[in-house]
Amino acid sequence: KARTVLLATEKAFAAAAVTKIEEVLKAANYTMKKLENYKSKDDLLAAVGDADAMIIRSDIVDQAVLDKASKMKIVVRAGAGYDNIDLKACEGKGITAMNTPGQNANAVAELVFGMMIVSARNNFDGTSGFELVNREIAFYGFGAVARAVHKLAQGFGMKSFAYDPYIPADKIKEMGAEPVSTVAGLFEHQYVSLHVPLTDETKASINKDLLGKMPKGGTLINTARLEVVHEADMLEILKTRPDFCYLCDVAPKDIEPFKAAVGDKYGKRLIFTKKKMGAQTAEANDNAGVAAANQIVGFFEKGETRFSLKA
Ligand code: NAD
Repeated sequence: KARTVLLATEKAFAAAAVTKIEEVLKAANYTMKKLENYKSKDDLLAAVGDADAMIIRSDIVDQAVLDKASKMKIVVRAGAGYDNIDLKACEGKGITAMNTPGQNANAVAELVFGMMIVSARNNFDGTSGFELVNREIAFYGFGAVARAVHKLAQGFGMKSFAYDPYIPADKIKEMGAEPVSTVAGLFEHQYVSLHVPLTDETKASINKDLLGKMPKGGTLINTARLEVVHEADMLEILKTRPDFCYLCDVAPKDIEPFKAAVGDKYGKRLIFTKKKMGAQTAEANDNAGVAAANQIVGFFEKGETRFSLKA
């Protein structure tokens, strides 16, 4: 059956990725409709009406969008985090929602090490820094991205620790990381790297009680979501602990108080990417977009639901 797949990306994919996505859909005899770099939600509301499926990135899919999507059967988030999709609303409409886990894990992991090295070498300011070898890194959440960071950490000769209540401790051990039984236990280590999804449970969960436990030179790395960290508490820690560092993929709305807190140590004690950049590589773009297209074809042609998300 001919299907129409809407590629709705407020932040467009690279052209090469779009070509590859279209190839997958064409091979299945599907039509791809593009809504790229759209400027207002109305554009999205107007475009969803005749689509059987939709590929999105960080685009917001809420009740209003779904109400206009009368033919829609499946929404796929090309990427890992899916806090932009109202899963309950999808369920209510009988629409399947999926993400493409793991496709951008290596891209994010390389960014984590990029930020760690820039910070450890004092943003290349001419002063002497330190090495990562023999340092300790603890992962909050041990899914695809955390494991990719762990693999690089092993190459750097670091020691890994992980807390993830959904993964058995012996499996974490098998992968070469030391299981940690509480969230607080993570904060005994110099580096703590966040890899949990944004949920009611994780929202603003990284607070001053936890951050205050970190040893000298304590460094929080956040490539998960900005909202997982308690913003006011982070600001306070940066102000009161001159040794503390925060390396974060995506800046808060008002960056100035944070910059003021670290003064000329911006780039060393504090790194904010300009926009969310973890998955912004040619490879991750291709991988996630093509995976999304394949998952849609698999869903319609073979009833595949492996990456379905639950409300
Ligand atoms: P994933 O689903 O593979 O891993 C998430 C892990 O978190 C799972 O192992 C899960 O068991 C664990 N988890 C869930 N709730 C938890 C909790 N309360 N405490 C401890 N562990 C918990 O996802 P991933 O691909 O590793 O991505 C992780 C997150 O990173 C995503 O949800 C997304 O928000 C973010 N991310 C950001 C970028 C970026 O561009 N910066 C790219 C990819 C992912």
